[in-house]
Amino acid sequence: MQKINLKDLSIVEMEDLISSLGEKPYRAKQVFEWVFQKDVDDIAGMTNLSLNFRNRLNELSYISRLSIADKRVSKDGAEKYLFLMDDGNSVESVLIPDKDRLTLCISTQVGCKLNCAFCLTGKGGFIRNLRHSEIIEQVLAVKREMRDEGRGTRDECDSSFVFRLSSLTNIVLMGMGEPLDNYENSIKAIKTFVSPHGLKIPARRITLSTSGLIPEIKYLANENLKINLAVSLNATNNETRDKIMPLNKKYPIENLLKVLREYPLPTGRRITFEYVIIKDINDSIEDADRLSKILKGIECKINLIPLNPPSPPFVKGGHGGDFEPPPYKRVEDFQNLLISRHYTAIIRKSKGADIYAACGQLRGMTRDEGRRTRDEE
Ligand code: SF4
Repeated sequence: MQKINLKDLSIVEMEDLISSLGEKPYRAKQVFEWVFQKDVDDIAGMTNLSLNFRNRLNELSYISRLSIADKRVSKDGAEKYLFLMDDGNSVESVLIPDKDRLTLCISTQVGCKLNCAFCLTGKGGFIRNLRHSEIIEQVLAVKREMRDEGRGTRDECDSSFVFRLSSLTNIVLMGMGEPLDNYENSIKAIKTFVSPHGLKIPARRITLSTSGLIPEIKYLANENLKINLAVSLNATNNETRDKIMPLNKKYPIENLLKVLREYPLPTGRRITFEYVIIKDINDSIEDADRLSKILKGIECKINLIPLNPPSPPFVKGGHGGDFEPPPYKRVEDFQNLLISRHYTAIIRKSKGADIYAACGQLRGMTRDEGRRTRDEE
């Protein structure tokens, strides 16, 4: 019989499992807290459960962990983690310090189907969806790493190792993959993040970023999760968006914006539009003008992200050569026009350029260099 990975279970699934063992429902919450709050990797360590119960649980289940295959720290403080999974695939997370925030950007898929022209992950194709355990583990593994390095220690956090401002402050589902293309596991993971028996992360500190899968955005609207929504827009007309985001041919801009106009935002929240600025593709003042017009009436803010510099030549499939970063003056002009039309428009400088922190770059590089583990360094 194949053992059940407890880290793959939602709280409801945990309750089903525990009641099938004839135990009281509150035991499920205790087990859930051991797995996701106290972060144990051994059922024997669940000391408030009877020995008999632990033995029975141990016979049919286990708790997985991800190993950190590589970690690189940028001069600007960003940290990139490469996680190796059981089947040999790998995914990345990036830890980004910014003033009073420490944000972890996590992945939801190995690769991606959507093939955005400026994205290295897209060029590598799609391999598989991440499981619930693999999405959650990116957060837990980074928290363990921080604790082991004396940052956000158990004492600083609290005895149960829960989410606190002294360690990670925000989670964004914006790494490799399209979270809404792995809808079931992304939503299940978010529910575990916010659960009082899970990681206890406030919903307002979680952002899901999508390239615009319209049916799934509608499903998400009905989940009432109260998380933040970011949309990777990157163009102001269908002609340009079709070229750089093939998904746009299926879900054109006007349909996407119609759904976003109707999206039920929690009070005081805004949708974030991500706009990767690429030289001579979408960086003109006319684009800025059009953007200000098409977003009219949507409670939003706009993140302007100048394209990362080209990848080094040894990164197979790097975007170097295809697209170029825009001149900074053009980015400023773009921003100024949006501000003059009363939008909040922020220029987001790429963090971690020296550690290849753009989406998919570390994974691509590690693949090309051959797999290196931290022990080998
Ligand atoms: S930008 Fe995001 S949605 Fe587009 S290919 Fe890359 S990972 Fe996929």
